[in-house]
Amino acid sequence: MGSLWTLPLVSLPLCFFFFLQRDSIGACPGETFPTVDPRTEEVLADVAKADVEDINRAVKAARKAFDHGPWPRMTAYERSKILLKYADLLEKHNDELATLDSLDSGKLYSQSQGVEIPHFVTRLFRYYAGWADKIHGKTLPADGPHQVLTFHEPIGVVGQIIPWNFPMVMFAWKVAPALACGNTIVLKTAEQTPLSACLAAKLAVEAGLPPGVLNVVSGFGETAGAAISSHMDIDKVAFTGSTETGKLVMQAAARSNLKPVTLELGGKSPFIIMPDADIDQAVELSHFALFFNQGQCCCAGSRTFVHESIYDEYIEKAKARALKRVVGDPFKSGVEQGPQVDKAQFEKILSYIDVGRHEGANLVTGGTRIGNKGYYIQPTIFSDVKDDMAISRDEIFGPVQAVTKFRTVQEAIERANNTTYGLAAGVFTKDIDTANTFSRALRVGSVWINCYDVFDAAIPFGGYKMSGQGREKGEYVLHNYTQVKAVVTPLRNPAWL
Ligand code: NAD
Repeated sequence: MGSLWTLPLVSLPLCFFFFLQRDSIGACPGETFPTVDPRTEEVLADVAKADVEDINRAVKAARKAFDHGPWPRMTAYERSKILLKYADLLEKHNDELATLDSLDSGKLYSQSQGVEIPHFVTRLFRYYAGWADKIHGKTLPADGPHQVLTFHEPIGVVGQIIPWNFPMVMFAWKVAPALACGNTIVLKTAEQTPLSACLAAKLAVEAGLPPGVLNVVSGFGETAGAAISSHMDIDKVAFTGSTETGKLVMQAAARSNLKPVTLELGGKSPFIIMPDADIDQAVELSHFALFFNQGQCCCAGSRTFVHESIYDEYIEKAKARALKRVVGDPFKSGVEQGPQVDKAQFEKILSYIDVGRHEGANLVTGGTRIGNKGYYIQPTIFSDVKDDMAISRDEIFGPVQAVTKFRTVQEAIERANNTTYGLAAGVFTKDIDTANTFSRALRVGSVWINCYDVFDAAIPFGGYKMSGQGREKGEYVLHNYTQVKAVVTPLRNPAWL
């Protein structure tokens, strides 16, 4: 095994180290890029900018670790113990990881510190540590004198590309199951949020992950990301991000070595409120479904369908709730909404608000930036939104709720399904039959009845239609990171029966 190679980053004002486990290699060209604090629009740190050559080097290290290293060859129990140790270290550094995510992305510290790192990161590593020694094949009945076994083997070198909205959560969803299955990894963070994964990579070394097993690179999509999806020596690519980029990743995989691709993409999820719903609860939950994480959720309930009999009351109460929403510094207690992640997203959201106005939707509340520093946007609601408006069709990825009314269950189903996306849906009703009808008819990967955004390590997540391919989490994700080998041997002696 080669030695661990570390590249110190310029620190402004924080000091980070970027750990890349790789074999004997030359130095990076030394290029960096700034990562910006969305609260202040000031540079937080300059981060190593991986180029194509860096990806080649990371892949070489991962290849060597997979082909000759101990990780896929050690017992599953040994792998499990290392993953448990890694989880302990992530838990120990919970608050630092949460701080980095909140600084980099503008997400609430209470959310990253109290929910995301403990429940969706550390917990996930423990969950997949538990799976490591339960991944196995089958003994199959053959129609002849043969013994047939299947082995569930790791795929090899896995390329992983993640977005910025949940940096450490996305890291965990990708890395934990791939490692449990015995793969080695080259993971690229989003250019907006590279910091927390640098610390997580350092902790992986401390946990005892052998050199070359986990390679974390920070860099841009068009260079480092494209180099991963088109690499001839990467055996599989797992991508989370926008649908447009997902298509590019799939094209690159098809044009190179036909590596299998799994995709977690965008959404425009319906949240349907029936007339029997408790209106106050429905207002609160639909507010959460859209505004959580500054509206930057792939599964945000961004199309609110309200039954016509309660529509006016809903709009009045939803407006009052949005006006009460506390927007401000994500590190302050009591704040419910921080800044958007960066200038590009901030401008994109404001331009969609303009489009909504011009398309004739009714601006109920919000619609402008807050202050003149930081990427803060007022919680915004449009009512009377028509299905063909851009604010109803496109993923805005910001605090902009589009509300529309419906008359019948059938109409709600048809209009909810009338989208190229199919990630998630919320249904609010007290009637079990109505709930069952919706949950079967909606063409989405997750249906939340009288709840929203309920995530657990065991619950699969992923999209129908153009929201993706494959599932993350639970037992289901293990299919993404294993391949099946059939082994057939003749049975020379007569069967004992
Ligand atoms: P994005 O597609 O712009 O970027 C995502 C990642 O892809 C980044 O790491 C980026 O550097 C990389 N990338 C960009 N161009 C690339 C290319 N040509 N080749 C390879 N990689 C490339 O998306 P984003 O704006 O960062 O993230 C927001 C999107 O992610 C939204 O659409 C959201 O719905 C989606 N998302 C989906 C899920 C899910 O689980 N379904 C979860 C989170 C985010």
